[in-house]
Amino acid sequence: MRKGLTRRHFLSTVSAAAAGMGTATSCRKSTEKNYPWRGPRGLLAETEVLIAGGGPAGIGAALGAAMLGARVFIIEDCGFFGGVGAWGCGMQMNQMRPGGNPRSNIHELLIEKLLAMGSQAGRFATGAAFDGPNALLCNVEYLKVAILYALEEAGCTYLVHTQAIDALTEQNRVNGIVVATKQGPMEIRARVVVDCTGDGDVSCYAGAETMTETGNLSPMTLCFNTSNVTQEDILAGQQEYSRNLQHAKADFPLIHQDVPDLSRVGNSHFYYTNHAGTRDMGQFNAADPFQFSQAECLSRRQVVQMVEALRKYGGGGLNKIEIVGAGPRIGVRESRRVKGGYILTEEDAMNGARFEDAIAWRSGNLDIGFVRVNRMKIHDVPYRALVPESIDGLLVAGRCISATHIGASAGKSMGNCIATGHAAGVAAALSVKEGLMPRELPVQKIQDALRDGGVDLDFSGRDQEWMERAINS
Ligand SMILES: Cc1cc2nc3c(=O)[nH]c(=O)nc-3n(C[C@H](O)[C@H](O)[C@H](O)COP(=O)(O)OP(=O)(O)OC[C@H]3O[C@@H](n4cnc5c(N)ncnc54)[C@H](O)[C@@H]3O)c2cc1C
Repeated sequence: MRKGLTRRHFLSTVSAAAAGMGTATSCRKSTEKNYPWRGPRGLLAETEVLIAGGGPAGIGAALGAAMLGARVFIIEDCGFFGGVGAWGCGMQMNQMRPGGNPRSNIHELLIEKLLAMGSQAGRFATGAAFDGPNALLCNVEYLKVAILYALEEAGCTYLVHTQAIDALTEQNRVNGIVVATKQGPMEIRARVVVDCTGDGDVSCYAGAETMTETGNLSPMTLCFNTSNVTQEDILAGQQEYSRNLQHAKADFPLIHQDVPDLSRVGNSHFYYTNHAGTRDMGQFNAADPFQFSQAECLSRRQVVQMVEALRKYGGGGLNKIEIVGAGPRIGVRESRRVKGGYILTEEDAMNGARFEDAIAWRSGNLDIGFVRVNRMKIHDVPYRALVPESIDGLLVAGRCISATHIGASAGKSMGNCIATGHAAGVAAALSVKEGLMPRELPVQKIQDALRDGGVDLDFSGRDQEWMERAINS
């Protein structure tokens, strides 16, 4: 008899198996023993640098830290990496090569892995519609796999379907996180944690001060793909739709007052639509479970209404358009931002601010999705904007760095989020190597390591002349 199996258990297993119920019985037994969340939490892993969230910032952070030799663990709530970029259904990754210039080894590694997968994977866009050469157009299914190749090549350990639900703290220091898994909540311990959740989740759980805009949050959008139409159908259909807009709006109340844009996904024959989303439906905060749920569910109805409105009011061109699919989740442009030693502002973006502790720069537009767009100057991101004011062992990157509501909107292009991620990953790896807290690191060391990683930290302050050239050409 197997060790540990009593005669009574053995007999009950045998008789249940004989009745064709063996699996059910053993399953019930093992479940009774293995509810770790009813006892002390299990330790899932220990690492040097732990990245929570695998969107553009998280990927930048993981690659940045791994390339400096740190042991890196990255966890992601979804079943794939890429964040909003991957669930956006084919949105262009802006500011990947501003003006056609490579901006770091990490951006280039991701580009290389994607383009190596062939013509269906993606291509660089040029021209006025894309603000000149900078935007990588991708098919998201290839993007998700390209990211895995990049993480594996850099030696990162990763888990998907793993959500950060708490922070492990000792006084003001973060020592890891608690994650939700199919075995219940488990701990991952780390020397430094980088919060790339977009919503500042880990920082909030650790007690860091966060900022959330009230009454003025950027809209969320559920992007979608359509097919079964040609470019000519779209042009003709959009004009017809525009003429019928008032009737369409009366029929489909969740649609917008403008004509939806349908742009080709990479080299494919289907189209991607980004739109004003929840802009006209009220205020929704992604950090509030009820509001987040409501935004998602209203938006699913909105997508169907938008496509049905195109079919009914888009004339001969669009009456056969079909939905290929909507994103697996609604895209959040803005929620919590984590207060650091400096808060980036609208003026910083418009004036091309320079900082002595620059660790990244942001290019492109100040863009509050479908509310306001301004051409800004390239400006620095100071290291202080990545370091939470009062919590140690923690860095922040991506759309939840320390910035005002409008300051945040100036940096949300994916290329910029990868850049702040890269910087946070480098700082985290150096912090482990030097045995210092992130806030104690000499910034010069981070800057030197970033320059070694292909980052030009003197790029800021300038106008983005390639955008003007694209528009005038
Ligand atoms: C509708 C929309 C359209 C946009 N259009 C463009 C565009 O055309 N071009 C462009 O360059 N940018 C665009 N952006 C902006 C850009 O996509 C985002 O600013 C960028 O993705 C932010 O990167 P991030 O890594 O900070 O956050 P996110 O992309 O939000 O990634 C955060 C990741 O963390 C994960 N996560 C969250 N919470 C947890 C948790 N508790 N535990 C574990 N994982 C967690 C999420 O699943 C996600 O993968 C758009 C954004 C939206 C919403």
